Amino acid sequence: MFDCVFDQLALHSAVQINVALVGHLQQVQQHVGNFIGNVLFLIWIQMCRLRLLRGHPLEDFGQLSGLHHQCGAQILGRVKRLPMALSREFTQGKLQCLEVHGVSLMGSISASADCLASAPQLASRHLASLHNLPMPRPTQLLHPPRPPAPTRAAATVLLLRDTPEGIEVLMTRRSAKASFVPGAFVFPGGGIDAADACCHNQCQRRATQTDSTLTQAVAAIRESFEELGVLLARHADGRWASQAEIDGMDRTSDFAAQCAARGLTLAASDVFVLARWITDRDLPKRFDVPFLVARMPPQQTPVADETEQFEPVWVRPADALARHQAGTFFMIFPTIRTLQQLQAFATVDAVLRACAVNEEPLFTSCPRAGLLAGREVRFMEHELPFSELALVCPDGQNVHPLDWQTETPVPLLKNVLRLTAPNPGVMTGPGTNSYLVGDASTGFIAIDPGPADEAHLGKLWRAAGGDIRLIVCTHSHPDHAPGARPLQAMCTPKPPILGLPSAATARANSVFVPDKTLQNKELLVLVPSGLEANLSYKNGHTLQVIHTPGHAANHLCLLLLEDGLLFSGDHILSGSTTVIDPPDGDMNNYLNSLDLLSAACLEHQIKFILPAHGHVMGGPNDEALAAIARLKRHRLQREAKVLLAMQAQPTGTLDDWLALAYDDVPQRMWPVAKRSLMAHVARLEALSG
Ligand SMILES: [Zn+2]
Repeated sequence: MFDCVFDQLALHSAVQINVALVGHLQQVQQHVGNFIGNVLFLIWIQMCRLRLLRGHPLEDFGQLSGLHHQCGAQILGRVKRLPMALSREFTQGKLQCLEVHGVSLMGSISASADCLASAPQLASRHLASLHNLPMPRPTQLLHPPRPPAPTRAAATVLLLRDTPEGIEVLMTRRSAKASFVPGAFVFPGGGIDAADACCHNQCQRRATQTDSTLTQAVAAIRESFEELGVLLARHADGRWASQAEIDGMDRTSDFAAQCAARGLTLAASDVFVLARWITDRDLPKRFDVPFLVARMPPQQTPVADETEQFEPVWVRPADALARHQAGTFFMIFPTIRTLQQLQAFATVDAVLRACAVNEEPLFTSCPRAGLLAGREVRFMEHELPFSELALVCPDGQNVHPLDWQTETPVPLLKNVLRLTAPNPGVMTGPGTNSYLVGDASTGFIAIDPGPADEAHLGKLWRAAGGDIRLIVCTHSHPDHAPGARPLQAMCTPKPPILGLPSAATARANSVFVPDKTLQNKELLVLVPSGLEANLSYKNGHTLQVIHTPGHAANHLCLLLLEDGLLFSGDHILSGSTTVIDPPDGDMNNYLNSLDLLSAACLEHQIKFILPAHGHVMGGPNDEALAAIARLKRHRLQREAKVLLAMQAQPTGTLDDWLALAYDDVPQRMWPVAKRSLMAHVARLEALSG
């Protein structure tokens, strides 16, 4: 065996062990000892890796044990000082996990120089976290970076009035020659001038208004005056500026001085923040704009300046939206969405009251654009496709198709492909998402092959270039696991099917026995072929297993550690709610697993969640954590409703409680909801002892 190893050493010597390799070895040398020891160590790792990648079942590693013991024993005594859980386990002789440790230890070599200064409690964290690398890795992004244009400060104001038919808002048409959104119907507004910050002492001001919100209010008041001849200013006795006073002023010259000359104070305290819009990342001219709101002063008539603005019009939000829909009233996305929000209010007072709660906008948005049927469509942060666009096109590249289709795999990163199975339905949403993790140099791990649909599996196999190394099932429901065996049969050599065996509680259509049972926290590693490339873990793809019973007893999730992704199976879904179907489903386990996922996201800087049904969730900050917290809150709120229903009708049937606790859910979903209701009831009964 050693001879064979040294043959390899000869092959990889000289040129192959190049600068990068020597660099890594030197980093390690001080911790491991002599150079030969290092080389043996690397070769040993390489042997493990090769055996793993050739699909040897775990037992086969026994044949290498002599080598492990010889090389390993020689090296382990020195390696154990590395702050790695891996090395700790080695010292405990846990050779059954070699397939994992062999490759991961290689990562520890390249990471060791930076890591060694870290505290030992970091031991259980993966290298990527230790390095605090950006997630996902920039090298895996599909599109070249394109920093968005910087934003400029501006302000706009919705002037409102009450009518018997509801609120009306003042809008005007922008000049056809305007550099920004020509011809669009907008609210008056514009860029913030330096002078706007200079007349704070001419303002009525709320105690809570900061200098910057005051400046924004001044800019909005000035723009309303210049563009429409509307003046939000009062006399000392509280009277609003009159039309005659406005008619006597020059809308093109110093606004503040003219107000001061007439004893007018700017009514900034009557201007509130409704929303904040930041222009989409893909647009060449970008603004950061508070959408302010104020009641229209009485007895004033808007008159457009006929240069920047034309056609002032009072319009109900619903009418403006209908006319836009009909193609006769062009508006841009933020205007449309703001009007939609405004529809929720019956009176101007109601709007102002909502905005007066604090100085924060009711909502903030920097929309993202994707393609639907080839056409550009924009989304706000709370809308389902937004997070997917944030992952695939972080700089706002407007190129990502969002249509659900089952023909072509959708690349999400260079190392993550999604292929949706043709099984859409009430329970499966757009269909089951099968994922491929990896690349041509590493081979692929297939996650959730889906139903045994030959055409779907064929597409998945082709997308991986036939090079599928491992098949993982998040759980054994019939829309997830039955494709595993036929997919395995397509591959040469046959990749092992990994997962958790179904419990005795599983329904007949969910019985499942994997080739190998995945341990909690186990790592599945793909590394490129070729010794040189192997030396950088940055080129590899490491999935960590997390057992997450709840939706199914044999459910697991996977973390892609280098890119901060969570493959959530059915535990977390986008656009639908996970069903907990007892007895295989268990609500208490489900909630506990959510906590586990939350902790794992924190530990591993998980940014995005890739569910088995629906679009990508999460975002570059803490959106993934927030999504999990929201999900848990939703469950507990539902449980509170179930408890109320049970208390209201102590002798009621499940159907009685269902009608009360799920009164907000369409009746066609009740048969499914009843399963989750049973899970809640079981948990409540267990909690009450
Ligand atoms: Zn399921």
